[in-house]
Amino acid sequence: MPALRVCALYPELMNIYADRGNIAVLRARCEWRGLGFELSSASLGQPLDAEAHHLFYMGGGQDRDQVAVAQDMAATKRDALRKAAERDAVVLAVCGGYQLLGHSYDMGGEELPGVGLVDLRTVREPGPRLIGNCAIEADLGDGPRVIAGFENHGGRTYLGGGERPLGRVLRGHGNNGRDGFEGVHRRNVIGTYLHGPLLPKNVWLADRLLELALGIELEPLGGDALEDAAHASALRAAGV
Ligand code: GLN
Repeated sequence: MPALRVCALYPELMNIYADRGNIAVLRARCEWRGLGFELSSASLGQPLDAEAHHLFYMGGGQDRDQVAVAQDMAATKRDALRKAAERDAVVLAVCGGYQLLGHSYDMGGEELPGVGLVDLRTVREPGPRLIGNCAIEADLGDGPRVIAGFENHGGRTYLGGGERPLGRVLRGHGNNGRDGFEGVHRRNVIGTYLHGPLLPKNVWLADRLLELALGIELEPLGGDALEDAAHASALRAAGV
């Protein structure tokens, strides 16, 4: 049986809204299927092995944590992340992590570097934080599905012309509150503003990421009544 090898980036710094719950879901869904699951991490000052993992994960964080992380990521992990993305490893980044996948995060006075895996920029603009329950329609190659989550970000993200969003906003603000799009999706690199954590509310998405990461097709697990209820409840909260 294959084992999913996951690397969590800066898990102690980038874990707002219990984003580490996403890892717990990936682990559980592997173990329930008899698949192995190996978790490692890479934090400040630690190098990254581009070949050693199927999935790289980073959660959200406050601006002050992002400052330290952004500099470190650019210095010690950018090249490995780019190599990993080129060989179609899955990269899942949430909110503060998502912002750092692009070229830069302009915090108004200080510009943080991103790793440039995708063509986007994030800017802290005057105006309220974009907060609330959110639902988007996304297609990860297996038909359109609705992802439910919660967003809370001061930064506004703008995708470059050739870049594809993860989804279309059904409810909520999305990337910038203006263009009706949420997240980014290039090959197996996915960035999103949705917390919750994301995967406990959308276990089909966790399964899809497992498929993409391992290059296999999975049978539905069955017995997902609680998980389906969580999804439905998150959608109701968003008003869908
Ligand atoms: N600090 C970033 C912002 O406010 C990201 C916040 C988050 O990860 N929730 O835009």
